[in-house]
Amino acid sequence: MKRTIENLDVKNKRVLLRVDFNVPMEDGFITDDTRIQRELPTIKYLLTKGAKLIICSHLGRPKGKVVESMSLMPVAKRLIELLPLTKIRFANDCIGKEAKDMAEKLKAGEILLLENLRFYPGEEKNDPFFAKELASLAEIYVNDAFGTSHRNHASIVGVAKLLPNAVGFLMGQEVNTILDVLDNPIRPFVAILGGSKVSDKIYVVMNLISKVNAVLIGGGMAYTFLKAKGINIGKSLVDDEKVELAKNILDEAEKRGISIFLPIDHLCAEALTPNAKVHKVRSAEIPDELMALDIGPKTVKLFSRVIKKSATVIWNGPMGVFEFPKFAKGTENIAKAVSKVQGKTIVGGGDSIAAIRELKLEDKIYHISTGGGASLKLLEGEILPGVEVIEDAK
Ligand code: AMP
Repeated sequence: MKRTIENLDVKNKRVLLRVDFNVPMEDGFITDDTRIQRELPTIKYLLTKGAKLIICSHLGRPKGKVVESMSLMPVAKRLIELLPLTKIRFANDCIGKEAKDMAEKLKAGEILLLENLRFYPGEEKNDPFFAKELASLAEIYVNDAFGTSHRNHASIVGVAKLLPNAVGFLMGQEVNTILDVLDNPIRPFVAILGGSKVSDKIYVVMNLISKVNAVLIGGGMAYTFLKAKGINIGKSLVDDEKVELAKNILDEAEKRGISIFLPIDHLCAEALTPNAKVHKVRSAEIPDELMALDIGPKTVKLFSRVIKKSATVIWNGPMGVFEFPKFAKGTENIAKAVSKVQGKTIVGGGDSIAAIRELKLEDKIYHISTGGGASLKLLEGEILPGVEVIEDAK
């Protein structure tokens, strides 16, 4: 168990809280503030315990330079709306004299939000000088940025090594929930994987076959597995370098008695466009001129049947090109099936969460993970660098 904020005395101490306020924005406005809302319990706890709170985050990918549209100023405004009784200031920089002066003037129960960490190249390079500058603002470091904790960045790893440290509530909840389900699942335990990044998710399948009872694979990653089985996949997405590995995983799963379910029918098109004519392909084999862009109705039925019988479900990745309404049905139907499971259900990844939200099924899901990439790393069996660096609780 890692040290948590409850194991720390933060009274009158400057606490640097690394959060993930990488919220979606359009024209300077936040379109979804879930990440800010989910951070409030940690912020409120630290404030009531008398911390002088310095909050830092990244936003977008400004690639080490100042990009005005990626300023955290709109986040500061939203924070002020959410915490009307708290004095909140915004520093136009995350290191340097201005930030330091403002940090030193903070009083217990007040917040200073720093400007985007990624305006400096040192953040993503885990540059020791940048980490030292950031650490010099505070006396204690708290990591609650679960969604970024698989990255070896200065504000995640470098700073943690320089100050007494702990994890926040969100981080603790994310890591403990996912690890608990992996280590002590109520069975049958089913993993559903989709999306396009085969190279990322194939290692998840590899790790999970020693833990789950069944894996359902849909979306773009299914076709690498279908190809590995010698099935014609037409023009569908494939990662040729991973076909051999997919074959080994299928063999290993069979040896262990783990079922890997793949699509048995598809919705296809001649090209990846929103208005493409939909071709229903009623078998696993796909004609040469077509690409599969969603799982078909027979697959939805098959997958839903397996999901219905399960007691624990992990789902990451859409079943098709969810962005195009014509190819969103598979993902929506899987979202509905997952929401009906009585046991523990964990959903991660932007598109799967979007499907759950659009159907207003959030309340029916046990845990919606705020960090797609980080949760995948945990499912791969890896230790997150941002968690590893935190001291163990005594
Ligand atoms: P990921 O980031 O790995 O979760 O992948 C999400 C992306 O996978 C989405 O943008 C989907 O459009 C894409 N995707 C899902 N199914 C397919 C498919 N059958 N062919 C191509 N792309 C897909």
